[in-house]
Amino acid sequence: MEDRLSLPVAAVSCRDYRDTALELKLAEVISAVNGLDALKPGARVGIKANLVSAMAPEKAATTHPALLSALVRILLGRGASEVIVGDSPGGLYTPAFVSRVYRASGMDAVIKAGGRLNEDFGQKEGYLKGARVARSFTYTSWIDGVDLLINVSKLKSHGMMGMSNAVKNLFGIVPGTMKPEYHFRFPDHGTFADMLIDLAEFARPVLSITDAIVGMEGNGPTQGSPREIGLILASRSPYNLDLVAAEIIGLSANDVPTLTAATRRGLSPERAKDVELLFGEPLPRLPGFRHVAVRHSLSFSGNRGPLGRAFSFVARRALTSRPTVRRGCIGCKKCAEICPARAIVMKNSKPVIDRTSCIRCFCCQEFCPVGAMQVHRTAIARLLTKQK
Ligand code: SF4
Ligand code: SF4
Repeated sequence: MEDRLSLPVAAVSCRDYRDTALELKLAEVISAVNGLDALKPGARVGIKANLVSAMAPEKAATTHPALLSALVRILLGRGASEVIVGDSPGGLYTPAFVSRVYRASGMDAVIKAGGRLNEDFGQKEGYLKGARVARSFTYTSWIDGVDLLINVSKLKSHGMMGMSNAVKNLFGIVPGTMKPEYHFRFPDHGTFADMLIDLAEFARPVLSITDAIVGMEGNGPTQGSPREIGLILASRSPYNLDLVAAEIIGLSANDVPTLTAATRRGLSPERAKDVELLFGEPLPRLPGFRHVAVRHSLSFSGNRGPLGRAFSFVARRALTSRPTVRRGCIGCKKCAEICPARAIVMKNSKPVIDRTSCIRCFCCQEFCPVGAMQVHRTAIARLLTKQK
């Protein structure tokens, strides 16, 4: 059996989506990791892109169409009979809603390259033997209609998970309509991370590719700022790929719950330096990459007795990151509609958050269309962890 821990990561420098050599560079990293060994002539290939929301490619929230269309051409050139790009963004999982996301995110390019956009909006119940937390779940059935699945993520900061990349991208196999329910079912960050790993184990993409030509920093995964990173990365292990990507943006396995869970479950090494890097050069650690200020939130659930509980209450309030409405709120109610804990009510056209019901899933931050909902980190927490 293949030793998944030792699957390498390949990286290539690519500064621009208009780079005429982009396709060549992508083919180079794919072949370095033997990423298409499983591709047989005539196979139907699915590409699970990150199409989180109806946003233009320049916003850097979604996988760039130039990279996706280059991949489509490579796959067709290697004998695939059909290449289908799909995702289930946050919100409704209907043809009308998803078509709007396709249009906004520039997916016409995929069709021009000879690929197709997913039009199967069916859902199925999935079961994973040996799952840690999600033995059964609902998933988008289009991934059953392909022979191979390739996972193409965008490297971004993320409110709940610290980072969005290969493993987090696979949450998109859950229909968007059901995602709030999953946040409620797996409310704490560790359990949510284990659920994401269960999904990744179920989807088992043959190859994962990171679009890190331009990533997102700051208020990610949708309202942050584009950040030039200048890399395309690939691996047959989404976990090793995430570990290396995290290192590049200044995070360790301890900072990213999915990496902590993957390490604990023996799916990836603990440190990026233990992953074999192809093309040899040490990868850059981006200076000053801005993260969402949530990842050092602390848990006090172990404190018992009245005094312990009182301490927990005070400490939690003093240290825990939380969603906060900043300037620019347009009163659209999206945060209230998406909140899985029903912790937001609108008063005078502004959202009011019930802190005791909030499960800190940060869906409100992710889906606020104007970036008015942000993750607030308390001054004490910033002081203790020496972060801004
Ligand atoms: S208020 Fe925001 S962070 Fe809290 S539960 Fe609702 S959506 Fe999640
Ligand atoms: S989603 Fe954003 S803009 Fe809309 S009501 Fe909530 S905070 Fe305001």
